[in-house]
Amino acid sequence: MSSVDQQLDDLRTEITSELPNGITVSDVKYEGPELVVYTRDPKKFAKKGDLIRRLASKLRKRITVRPDPDVLSKPRDARDQIMTVIPDEAGVTDLDFHADTGEVVIEAEKPGMVIGRHGSPLREITQEVGWTPEVVRTPPIESSTVSNVRNFLKQERDERRDILEKVGRQIHREEMSDDEFVRITTLGCCREVGRAAFILSTPETRILIDCGDKPGAEGEVPYLQVPEALGAGAQNIDAVVLTHAHLDHSALIPLLFKYGYDGPIYTTEPTRDLMGLLQLDYLDVAAKEGRAPPYDSEMVREAIKHTIPLEYGDVTDIAPDVKLTLHNAGHMTPACSTARSTTSPASRRSSWSPPTAAATTTRPTRRTPSESSSG
Ligand SMILES: [Zn+2]
Repeated sequence: MSSVDQQLDDLRTEITSELPNGITVSDVKYEGPELVVYTRDPKKFAKKGDLIRRLASKLRKRITVRPDPDVLSKPRDARDQIMTVIPDEAGVTDLDFHADTGEVVIEAEKPGMVIGRHGSPLREITQEVGWTPEVVRTPPIESSTVSNVRNFLKQERDERRDILEKVGRQIHREEMSDDEFVRITTLGCCREVGRAAFILSTPETRILIDCGDKPGAEGEVPYLQVPEALGAGAQNIDAVVLTHAHLDHSALIPLLFKYGYDGPIYTTEPTRDLMGLLQLDYLDVAAKEGRAPPYDSEMVREAIKHTIPLEYGDVTDIAPDVKLTLHNAGHMTPACSTARSTTSPASRRSSWSPPTAAATTTRPTRRTPSESSSG
């Protein structure tokens, strides 16, 4: 049995022992950074108010509870019941049921009103219908970019789940090293504008932060061939973190997939959508200017499929020894600075912010995002 399977087995035993009688666990899996608990008793789970929060803090993991597909009420019945729980002012524009995961994606103009205080309407929905709600915002202006990305991810749901499971097992692998260090390698963007790309290395992990192009300088790409990056093979990199979608930070991310990388990209959800838009535009401009594009649009789709969106302020395990938190840097819509800590085994701790203008803000300030100059 692999160490991850052993870990999941132990977690399942521990979770079962924490649950009140009558609530069963049918499976426990990692999907990306989250621990997903499958149960045949989602309604009872939801009734126990803060059970999930208690489990999450005890196990120190992000936990999602999902119903086994065969205990779900029919979408048509569930739809009516869900609409009685959500206030009209929330402006629900779509409900999308995914029987394979037991999730219902609720698209609303005011997601905050669906989520309510401490998520109590969400628990009420699960109590009523068994489905697990996931809330997304209806774009304020109809956006083909957002709907294209959402529809694409819907089509690719099965493959996406496989990707998340694989990433989850990577994140929670056993730590092999007792060494302690954090090293930064710059692959571009020093004493120059453009081709932002940095490698953060620990004894266990290598994380690529941004992978941009250099505007107006054809062929000057980040030094991806060094051993810390792809020189030692595409699997040498554990994860990519994207701070924002400007092309000097994001243009060459699809190139990584062309070179064989198939790991996760962490960023905010709006940055994922903007990234896809700008990369496709980047290919278009290259074609119109008669330059050979460095990758094709299929690689842009791969990048989107491998993106794990995070909210500002969430502390997320992205490797056995690295946690990631995104903060609003106030640069462009939804630019973020990043702070990481390696936290193994006990109080080992260090943090780092990338040397860009975006990095100066380290407090999560939820102000209105504003456009600003590029960089
Ligand atoms: Zn920028």
